[in-house]
Amino acid sequence: MRVCDAIVIGGGPAGAAAAVRMAEGGMDVVVVESRAFPRVKVCGEFVSPAATGVLESLISARELEALGAGRVDRFEILTGRAVHRWWMPRAAWALSRGGLDAALLARAESAGAWVLQPEAVRGVEYAEESVRVSLRGGGEVSARVVVHADGSGRHDPAGATPNARGLVGQKCHLRLPEAIGCVRMLACDGGYVGLIDVEDGLATVALVAGAGLVRRHGGDADSMLGAMWMGYDAAQRVSAWCSTGVARSGYVAPGDLRSFRVGNAAGAVDPVGGEGIGLALWSGDLVGRLLSAEGALERGALGGVQRRVGAAYRGRLRWRRPACRLASEVLSRPVLTACVRPLLWMPSLSVGVWYRVTGKPGARRLQET
Ligand SMILES: Cc1cc2nc3c(=O)[nH]c(=O)nc-3n(C[C@H](O)[C@H](O)[C@H](O)COP(=O)(O)OP(=O)(O)OC[C@H]3O[C@@H](n4cnc5c(N)ncnc54)[C@H](O)[C@@H]3O)c2cc1C
Repeated sequence: MRVCDAIVIGGGPAGAAAAVRMAEGGMDVVVVESRAFPRVKVCGEFVSPAATGVLESLISARELEALGAGRVDRFEILTGRAVHRWWMPRAAWALSRGGLDAALLARAESAGAWVLQPEAVRGVEYAEESVRVSLRGGGEVSARVVVHADGSGRHDPAGATPNARGLVGQKCHLRLPEAIGCVRMLACDGGYVGLIDVEDGLATVALVAGAGLVRRHGGDADSMLGAMWMGYDAAQRVSAWCSTGVARSGYVAPGDLRSFRVGNAAGAVDPVGGEGIGLALWSGDLVGRLLSAEGALERGALGGVQRRVGAAYRGRLRWRRPACRLASEVLSRPVLTACVRPLLWMPSLSVGVWYRVTGKPGARRLQET
């Protein structure tokens, strides 16, 4: 059995960021990722400007560009026939999760983490002085702490992060005749859509649909997207639709002293604002740094680390969570969309509030294009 300081379950953005920081801090880290990369992940593939700093601290801007990542500095929202456009004061990044997650996990490996992939965690046993993790391949790893970064935290005694009832997330890639050139959000009755250019001349489309919309279209994502976006031509789709539930939850405190939760396993906001990758990177970075501090792995210190993480996480979600929930409700209800439309003509006010509550820099510099 391998013995290490920390085992990280999941090699997505949260797990990779945590592993980088712990390995850099001198810890012996094992990361277990169940899927071979690159893999498809249901995601709009927009990395919020709130996350630019932490992302670029893990992968430099030059490396991101070499991977084909694009900078996005315009935002567009289509509500009915009205189109609202803004310059974003600080550029965001757009990159497929195939490319991004593989690069982040490679970064963790080069920092010194030992990556087991593809390999899945089957169960975790919690004891006084250690955790024992059993792997699907039959092996076992013993660690002083476990970091749940599997997108749900299902192996933590506190249980899995809940999903929003009745919401489905879907994603595919399109090859469009022209680049989109911005982040484009479409509001519609029962759901919303995000579109963005990613590498290799592809565009990502991610949609979130309520149960009513799914029912009306018999679960056919092409038909749903056609109803939400007048310009959609299913012949432009170059990958299969993938679907998933949509996680939505406040901070879930870990259920054992040796257990830590990051990313969606710790809490999740509605996808509307593209905040999830940022929260995953931020929390992985935070937990990794705190655990690799001198003496942090001692039994007497772990509770204090958990409390600091909990306080920081609750602070991050305090306004983001209701703001993302509200934006999600507004975009999927035409009556509410019509009510907010006049405000959108004053971006430094309306979008400025959004920028402030979601921690993005430059709210005062937002201008209609
Ligand atoms: C429709 C939709 C659109 C979205 N759009 C955006 C967007 O544009 N921008 C944004 O920032 N966020 C977006 N999000 C949210 C974002 O995808 C998540 O917040 C983010 O992926 C969370 O990262 P994570 O590292 O916590 O978990 P994940 O990305 O889910 O990574 C978890 C990893 O753990 C692995 N794993 C799971 N179980 C095991 C196991 N037992 N053993 C080993 N490995 C395991 C998985 O294979 C996976 O690689 C969107 C979400 C949805 C549903």
